Amino acid sequence: MRVTAAAATDVGLVREGNEDSYLTEEPLYAVADGMGGHRGGEVASQLAVETLERMFKEGAGDLPDQVQEANRVVFERSVLDRKVAGMGTTLTAALVEGDRVRLAHVGDSRAYLLRDGKVRLLTEDHTLVHRMVTEGEISQEEAETHPQRSVLTRAVGVDTVVDVDDDTVQILPGDRLLLCTDGLTSMVSEEVIEEVLRDVPDPQEAAHRLVRMANEAGGVDNTTVVVLDFSNDGATARPNGEATSLGAGTAPAPTRRPARSRRRLPTRKLLVWAGIIVALAVVALVGLRLYLDTQWYVGVSDGNVAIFRGIPTEVAGFELHHVVVETTISAEKAESLPFYQDLGDGKTAEDREGASAIVEQIRRDVEQMGQLPQSNQPSSTNASGP
Ligand code: MG
Repeated sequence: MRVTAAAATDVGLVREGNEDSYLTEEPLYAVADGMGGHRGGEVASQLAVETLERMFKEGAGDLPDQVQEANRVVFERSVLDRKVAGMGTTLTAALVEGDRVRLAHVGDSRAYLLRDGKVRLLTEDHTLVHRMVTEGEISQEEAETHPQRSVLTRAVGVDTVVDVDDDTVQILPGDRLLLCTDGLTSMVSEEVIEEVLRDVPDPQEAAHRLVRMANEAGGVDNTTVVVLDFSNDGATARPNGEATSLGAGTAPAPTRRPARSRRRLPTRKLLVWAGIIVALAVVALVGLRLYLDTQWYVGVSDGNVAIFRGIPTEVAGFELHHVVVETTISAEKAESLPFYQDLGDGKTAEDREGASAIVEQIRRDVEQMGQLPQSNQPSSTNASGP
């Protein structure tokens, strides 16, 4: 199957910046609609799309995995950079695999398939109002004007993991696929979208027309569309999609995103990772320190029974305990009593008082043992016997 791709994006008439991003790198296509403050939305959608592209080129996992990775990268950035805290993005991606299209989707951007003049919605909006409609709380008509219609129930980059919708669609020659952000669907009805997709043969012209219509209807949001035309063409256009079009009325339209600054800096990424690892290590060490300070046990130090703070173990050569009180009670004598045989392994206590109580018990038990007949200790405070 041959793919002819086109894309168009516009800031609209109300917003100050365009927080949408898109990707048309055959055979991978996507739209993303960022949110979360002035900078955040732009960073989130761009980062998501870039990560998707990079993961695909590295051949890492399948499409849903790649979206999951985009989620992780956006989330991490939002945690590390206060200026973009809380950002997130929608992401609707289509990967063309022969005569099938794999879809991965999060949020309220959409994918439509035009076949035989009819559009079919391939994705489900992850919005509060969509949930309310499916649960019968409000009607579809009410949803379209609902004040909270843009509230998402799922987005890329707002949590450590995201639930990704995953679907595969069989494609026929003549099919047309549309990926679009809600800037289009909130302004232009499905009937009109269908009309444009059906009546405008050139994909680039169709893309421009849809964006223009969103603006003519008010242009309240950024609008981004990607149009993919599928044709049965033996000369499968692999290298850059620049194969000659045979018979079709449309010129091949190799589309690239505008040359926005999207250089990747591996060293910067490394630094970010190093920063995360150091931060995690510090958190872990502080946590461990606080934990160890609450732990007490009775064990053996220099041959004597002793009270320790911490836990009776060591990690990578670091002892996780220290002696607080060393007694004069012989550990050997204590360990000769069945109950204290494994004193060397440590007897844990609730707190310092508990540890002291254990020590006193050992002292009494060892002293009693000293009073038994086999003892070679003659002196005894309260000797028994006549
Ligand atoms: Mg939007």
